[in-house]
Amino acid sequence: MPETVAFVGLGNMGGPMSARLARAGYRVRGFDLAAGARQALADAGGVAARDLADAVGEAAVIVLMLPSSAVVEATVRDERFVARPGAIVVDMSSSEPLRTRALAAELAQRGVTLVDAPVSGGVARARTGKLTIMTGGELADLRRVEPVLAHLGTTTRAGAVGSGHAVKALNNLLSATHLLVTCEAMVAGERFGLDPRTMLSIFNSSSGRSGSTENKWPNFILPGTFDSGFGLRLMLKDMRIATGLADQVGAPDPLGHAATDLWARAAEALEDSADHTEIVTWLRED
Ligand code: NAD
Repeated sequence: MPETVAFVGLGNMGGPMSARLARAGYRVRGFDLAAGARQALADAGGVAARDLADAVGEAAVIVLMLPSSAVVEATVRDERFVARPGAIVVDMSSSEPLRTRALAAELAQRGVTLVDAPVSGGVARARTGKLTIMTGGELADLRRVEPVLAHLGTTTRAGAVGSGHAVKALNNLLSATHLLVTCEAMVAGERFGLDPRTMLSIFNSSSGRSGSTENKWPNFILPGTFDSGFGLRLMLKDMRIATGLADQVGAPDPLGHAATDLWARAAEALEDSADHTEIVTWLRED
């Protein structure tokens, strides 16, 4: 019998990730508040669980791919979340590192291990199983989940539990700050009369290149599709986690705070469902 993996949170990322595990031969029991997301897992060869209890009860590995620490905490504290003894919870959401540490200690008292394994790479690499996965936890615990993670991407251990979440938030502070300043440069260049594709081509063979110039501008902004699948509010959440972490450890972060304030203004001005690449729309109209 293949191992049972519970998968809670079947959204833009959890949907393709859980489908990959089902295709790899795991018995995937998935739960999401959205009926459409549960149905999509069933269509991909997994089992749409009736509720949280039905998803997690038999699972050796329980993957969470949820919006935030608050939702992760509510999920594992739900009375229907009854994991079997020895089960291991893998929080792949972009959660808050200190809350993750506290939650791991809380779950340990219930005999359940929690490790963190957030990801980078977006929906496209979730589909192809080429995510960057950054983990936090004891080596022995991480080894137990490595076979599952191997179907989703390439794993690097960042340190003790919570470390994956710390580096993930810091990565997204970089990504969001790059993207915003790239938008500023692109809009300035366009108004000067430069061709945007020519600018990107030059940036991409020069020192200004980044994921924003190599991926986000050509694939989601220039075509006007704004369909990266990563919400603007989720990006802002990660920036706040990163600047909060910097503040807690007394690291200087004036640029991080300035960028976060600008993204917060964009979040207020745009629709709740805005993709993070729509930051350029706000910039153009602000
Ligand atoms: P999403 O909003 O598309 O998916 C979240 C899913 O969780 C939704 O389907 C929602 O219905 C479900 N959900 C919410 N509360 C729930 C609950 N209590 N019980 C069960 N299901 C619940 O978000 P996403 O883009 O898939 O992101 C998920 C996580 O991954 C976030 O922490 C995000 O920051 C992170 N992340 C996203 C991307 C990306 O490109 N989208 C990339 C890296 C990391």
